[in-house]
Amino acid sequence: TADAIQQFDLLFKFIIIGDTSVGKSCILHHYLRHKFNSNSRHTVGVEFGQRFIQVVCGGLPKTLKLQIWDTAGQERYRSVTRSYFRGSLGVILVYDVTSLDSFNHVQQWLTEARQFSRQEATFMIVGNKKDLVSQRVVEMTEGAKFALENECLFMECSALSGENIEEVFNKTAHSIIYKVDS
Ligand code: GDP
Ligand code: MG
Repeated sequence: TADAIQQFDLLFKFIIIGDTSVGKSCILHHYLRHKFNSNSRHTVGVEFGQRFIQVVCGGLPKTLKLQIWDTAGQERYRSVTRSYFRGSLGVILVYDVTSLDSFNHVQQWLTEARQFSRQEATFMIVGNKKDLVSQRVVEMTEGAKFALENECLFMECSALSGENIEEVFNKTAHSIIYKVDS
């Protein structure tokens, strides 16, 4: 494929974690193909995709390759392994704004991710399904407060409308670049 031979300057491993059915796979698919996949399958195993973005690093334009891993259903069996986290620089930790349980589990996911990811990793907490306005049970301020207290980035997004999907990955990548650069 064209992707396979594309040149890049830096490679960042990203992982997407969080409870089952919060929308992790939809977020990834939207980011990779710009569309919403309502029948996302819960296959067991790890899937990943890649995307190239342009950034400025050390005052020079660079091509960044994001290699993004999705648990592809493993999270349901508590079988997300160390190797999944290993080497990750960008951790996208997703909860569903219509599920209090998924928000309450963010702390556990974060603890695990901090343990196994790289020291200089950036953690982005994401409240997904912001389009489900009438079903919302987690307010944006609650998510933002948790993120601030735990030194994480924060955004709300919708894999259905596509709102903020690009920004989730861009902001995380730029935060890593900023650390690498300074
Ligand atoms: P995963 O288990 O975290 O990978 O979750 P999926 O990506 O498989 O999504 C679980 C369900 O939530 C599916 O039925 C999706 O159609 C739905 N879903 C995912 N993201 C959104 C969103 O932003 N808005 C709405 N309304 N539904 C979503
Ligand atoms: Mg999935």
